[in-house]
Amino acid sequence: MLEKLKELSNHSQSKYYSFPVSCILECQDGTTFQGVNVETSSPAAGICAERNALFQALAMGYQKEDFVRIHIYSRSKNNITPCFICRQALLEYAKPDLEIISYTDDGNTEIFHLEELCSHPFQEEDLA
Ligand SMILES: [Zn+2]
Repeated sequence: MLEKLKELSNHSQSKYYSFPVSCILECQDGTTFQGVNVETSSPAAGICAERNALFQALAMGYQKEDFVRIHIYSRSKNNITPCFICRQALLEYAKPDLEIISYTDDGNTEIFHLEELCSHPFQEEDLA
């Protein structure tokens, strides 16, 4: 998986922050969706790797129950986790026990679950 993620990160469009991120979202049926971060000169117009993969999956008809885990890679020495915008999107469209596996460049992995990264989420029910 790490080699796939490294290769995929070469497609990242990260010319402003030079921080390529790649991810692979796994579904229960074995289908995977790949994502990379895409930056633009107007930062808000870009997208993170995680949402890139998630939104592709949704566009193909996959739903919350289908997502099993997401693998995330960056060249950071640290095991990165999804940013808070991606956490919000994942909370909306993935189950709380979604596994998040973070890989560093030298192969260290750390496993998280979505719910542990979002202890007090803003959710659909809060709009009532
Ligand atoms: Zn993000």
